[in-house]
Amino acid sequence: MNFDLTSEQDQLRDAVRALGRRYGHRYFVEKAKAGEHTTELWQEAGELGYLGVNIPTEYGGGGGGITELAIVCEELAAAGCPLLLLVVSPAIAATVINRHGTEEQRKRHLPGLADGSQKIVFAITEPEAGSNFHRLATVARRDGDDWVLSGRKCYISGVDEAQFVLVVARTEDSSTGKLKPALFIVPTDAAGLTRSKLDMEIVSPENQFLLYLDEVRLPGDALVGGSLDAGLPALFAGLNPERITVAAMGAGTGRYAIERASEYTATRKVWGGRTIGSHQGVAHPLAHAAVQVELARLMIQKAAALYDAGRDLEAAVSANMAKYAAGDAAALAVDTAVQALGGAGMTTEYGVATLLGAVRAGRIAPVSREMILNFVAQHVLGQDKSY
Ligand SMILES: Cc1cc2nc3c(=O)[nH]c(=O)nc-3n(C[C@H](O)[C@H](O)[C@H](O)COP(=O)(O)OP(=O)(O)OC[C@H]3O[C@@H](n4cnc5c(N)ncnc54)[C@H](O)[C@@H]3O)c2cc1C
Repeated sequence: MNFDLTSEQDQLRDAVRALGRRYGHRYFVEKAKAGEHTTELWQEAGELGYLGVNIPTEYGGGGGGITELAIVCEELAAAGCPLLLLVVSPAIAATVINRHGTEEQRKRHLPGLADGSQKIVFAITEPEAGSNFHRLATVARRDGDDWVLSGRKCYISGVDEAQFVLVVARTEDSSTGKLKPALFIVPTDAAGLTRSKLDMEIVSPENQFLLYLDEVRLPGDALVGGSLDAGLPALFAGLNPERITVAAMGAGTGRYAIERASEYTATRKVWGGRTIGSHQGVAHPLAHAAVQVELARLMIQKAAALYDAGRDLEAAVSANMAKYAAGDAAALAVDTAVQALGGAGMTTEYGVATLLGAVRAGRIAPVSREMILNFVAQHVLGQDKSY
């Protein structure tokens, strides 16, 4: 057993950390408050090869795995720049297209995803279906060689900055008469695709949208994998990378918050010469949060290693556990950091309360903690499905 990173992974961690610190949380918050995007950071990360670490070298990527992408997500978040679109574009879209796209789709999309010039976001959630994906109502109908999509999606991140959105729809399976899922690569400027921005209580330069698909006509080659049989495996292919990278982002955010608070409590003195960090009522909650974040990091490392070894089923259990642990650890770390900073914790200047909304959302999305507990109860503990 070896918990050490390879020297390449170590170098990647150091380099991404340096990039993230050059931008920092102040930059992230300023962009969010100005209603702008972190375009410079994204472009630079792309040029340096960090967005494509998990994409094969023949398509312009780094040839690594989800372990490397998780390092990128964690280190940018640990520098105060938790970029949600890393989870949708390189983690979900690049994995799905690489593993289940046609060769033509790989050539068309992977090089742009690798250098950051192309962003593909992901749309599965629907207002009526919620956590129950079996109820998806967005329908793809065949019309000659074309596909025609109709339906509604909600909370879709980053549609305003992406060239494409990977839409999960249902198709009619003519052999069984049942509906089955399929993924479509839809240009965000396609006729019939409209969006409206949701007002979210999250300080983030990345936005969520309602998407309306009104008879969106697509050429036949918009279907991922070129065959309806590719739909289900393609959908599942994106889940583990999504969970592992979102967990890494949570762990990085937790580290960031604990670091800010520790710096503060190690120097602030309000009772004579003693620092407030010398009081165990202040230090222990921070130490407890640090333990939770470190435990989550271990599970992220395990999940990523299993995934990169091609052990998808085992990776699913670890990825869910990592996401659950990191979601809770990040929320605990940020809340504890705010408390340790006192009034300063609620200021924009100290840059901790600005993360409260994001870490709270991390316990709901992309999969809620309750749905993870359902998964663990059923698949690890052998309980009957409860829903
Ligand atoms: C910031 C943010 C970004 C997002 N980005 C995207 C995106 O890019 N693309 C995308 O497709 N979606 C996105 N989502 C949507 C997200 O994946 C969903 O919000 C999430 O899956 C939960 O679905 P829901 O909101 O409909 O909750 P619901 O399904 O309505 O659930 C509400 C509550 O009930 C609980 N619950 C539901 N069913 C059960 C059950 N059987 N047992 C126990 N508890 C249950 C849930 O855990 C939750 O606490 C985003 C959401 C947020 C907040």
